[in-house]
Amino acid sequence: MEDKRVKRRIVLVPVPAQGHVTPMMQLGKALYSKGFSITVVLTHYNRVSSSKYFSDFQFLTISGSLTESDLHTLGPLKFLMKLNQICETSFKHCLSNLLQEQVNGNDDIACVVYDEYMYFSQAAVKEFQLPSVVFSTTSATAFVCRSVLARVNAESFLINMKDPEAQDMVFPGLYPLRYKDLPTSVFGPLESMLKVYTETVNIRTASAVIINSASCLESSSLAWLKRELHVPVYHIGPLHIAASAPSSLLEEDRSCIEWLDKQKPSSVIYISLGSLALMETKDMFEMAWGLSNSNQPFLWVIRPGSIPASEWTETLQEEFSKLVSERGYIVKWAPQMEVLRHPSVGAFWSHCGWNSTLESIGEGVPMICRPFTGDQKVNARYLERVWRIGVQLEGELEKGIVETAVKRLIAGEEGEDMRKRAIDLKEEA
Ligand code: UDP
Repeated sequence: MEDKRVKRRIVLVPVPAQGHVTPMMQLGKALYSKGFSITVVLTHYNRVSSSKYFSDFQFLTISGSLTESDLHTLGPLKFLMKLNQICETSFKHCLSNLLQEQVNGNDDIACVVYDEYMYFSQAAVKEFQLPSVVFSTTSATAFVCRSVLARVNAESFLINMKDPEAQDMVFPGLYPLRYKDLPTSVFGPLESMLKVYTETVNIRTASAVIINSASCLESSSLAWLKRELHVPVYHIGPLHIAASAPSSLLEEDRSCIEWLDKQKPSSVIYISLGSLALMETKDMFEMAWGLSNSNQPFLWVIRPGSIPASEWTETLQEEFSKLVSERGYIVKWAPQMEVLRHPSVGAFWSHCGWNSTLESIGEGVPMICRPFTGDQKVNARYLERVWRIGVQLEGELEKGIVETAVKRLIAGEEGEDMRKRAIDLKEEA
């Protein structure tokens, strides 16, 4: 058979977290289909590297890095900061070895594509004078927010962010985002977050920026980036539509598909808070009461570790199981894209991570938005106010509010309108 490979290699550097690995692997698949060889540089071994689906990719694990348990102990913000401190040297070694292999006849490195949060990569690509591209796995609007925040006067910003009265005010230049919608993190102090944001938007050595988004979703934010960043900006999303690539880091429980097969069309609420969000026990019970009072069936992903173990006593666990047993089906991790595609699913209760947002739009499923942290708040505001395919639950979670939201989306006319708008967006995207 004729060899259609272009004999050029792309080196991918993903953040070792589900929401970042997924789009990076999709990008890898898309580039591989264009004839490039793919090398994925991991900071620790994970399931993806042994997946049959990526058997044509080369996986390299850089030494002396952090592990998955460090992510849980340190929390995402400190983890990222530390990862960027300690990986620079080992990544240089890794690239140096790859360049040596190139001398020995292996494919040339065409480019290093690194996740915006793996900014340590810049030093190595600069040293070896390799072309590089920054891959933004969040929305274009979140990128704009980070750029704006990196430029504001940190002192007055920090004062405003701590002022409860400022919270409902629109942030200048970022309409309809309010102060409380800005991508601040619950995982660390604002000062550290600003430092990380400044690094992610400082794209010194990159030749271009790729964004997993589409102009029908974020035309003005994309225009802002094209104007303000001094390198070309390419929006190539939603990537999961063009290049699906199963890259789950956790074992998917497929029994939920059989359960969905038995439910009525568009009747089920699918609940998932992604790979990092945490839940308070009190909120879980309010959700469970509200869902059960709504009389709608629900599929709930409760990821191990997402509820503080100290709070999750055996008695509470039993009480919770009783509450959800009639209408609910619980799994630890679901094949989310397949779930969203299932005709029984009528709405998605989500933390509004960017992948979940794109996947829900991609299947025309309206959303109940309960963001947890960071860019999820930006996405939730856009889902409700810009795309109008979601209802955001703000403030204290209470069972009556949950029940009303579920009924609005599943049974009401409003839900039907949202579904139509979501399908229109899906088609445009
Ligand atoms: N996901 C999944 N099964 C689940 C929950 C989530 O496969 O039970 C996937 C989901 O399809 C998405 C990713 O995990 O691609 C989560 O990414 P997102 O950006 O939504 O949130 P994050 O985990 O980064 O907070």
